Amino acid sequence: DAKESGRGRVVKYLAALDIQRHQRAELEDKLRQAIENGEVRPVFQPLVDAKTGSLRGVEALARWVPETGPITPEVFISVAEKAGLIDQLGRKILEASVEAASSWNDIGLSVNISPVQLRNPDFAAVVEAVLEKSEFDPNRLTLEITEGVLMSNPEQAKRAMARLKANGVKFALDDFGCGYASIGALREFGFDRMKIDRSLVVSLSDEKGAGVLNATLSLAKALDIPVTAEGVETQEQADALAERGCDQLQGYLVGKPMEAKQVEKVFLRTAA
Ligand code: C2E
Ligand code: MG
Ligand code: MG
Ligand code: MG
Repeated sequence: DAKESGRGRVVKYLAALDIQRHQRAELEDKLRQAIENGEVRPVFQPLVDAKTGSLRGVEALARWVPETGPITPEVFISVAEKAGLIDQLGRKILEASVEAASSWNDIGLSVNISPVQLRNPDFAAVVEAVLEKSEFDPNRLTLEITEGVLMSNPEQAKRAMARLKANGVKFALDDFGCGYASIGALREFGFDRMKIDRSLVVSLSDEKGAGVLNATLSLAKALDIPVTAEGVETQEQADALAERGCDQLQGYLVGKPMEAKQVEKVFLRTAA
């Protein structure tokens, strides 16, 4: 009867939750192992000058490819944040990126940092230790953070940023324009660069989208903050963005994320 089938549904639902919980625990275990074994590694995507097309820097993007197939960073970063693994993962990515980029002359290195990492009171000291150990010039490093940093304990984040900025490290506000944006934060936190989200770049092709992009770029200009456009896939987008004052471009048009060796081959041939 209805009651029984109701109970049946509940049992099924609980069973499904149990499987989910089980799978999540399994994924956490696998990720923990993978981080320890150095199987979560960075690839690098070029950032180029919008006018000349010459290489300005690279963004490190974490990759994890377990035997069952690749898992997107959006998923495993969020798992790492919830499982208390993000500090360790973030440190490994920073270490590996700095090591790879050490020999890349004076180009910049951008590394994504979770807001969760930035709330850890040890964060600034860890970054300093990694830079010192590999004698990496802090002026070459940009840390990319999303506006999630504003959500809880922004004071701690601000302190860490101020300390690292005093050493020369730069900060970029990532994915600008896809959240409930943060005009105040750009100034208050002392961001050195704004990265406009791919969604803004995509909507360039319609009139309203272009209007939003123009307004965003005027804002950046008023604040005297340089702008990188993300997710640039076509030459039309590249031209429009350069014309409107973005000084750096990033996207499949310029280059997909690639192995360190390929960065050297494609962009730094002269160094070899
Ligand atoms: P993000 O920092 O905004 O990175 C840009 C994302 O856009 C990357 O996705 C990149 O592969 C993708 N992308 C670049 N150009 C294009 C394009 O022309 N078209 C399209 N469709 N996509 C493009 P990915 O590598 O999957 O990373 C996703 C997000 O995961 C990153 O977004 C970042 O928020 C996070 N993430 C990646 N690595 C790390 C890390 O080491 N630490 C932390 N905390 N987060 C990371
Ligand atoms: Mg980024
Ligand atoms: Mg981004
Ligand atoms: Mg993004």
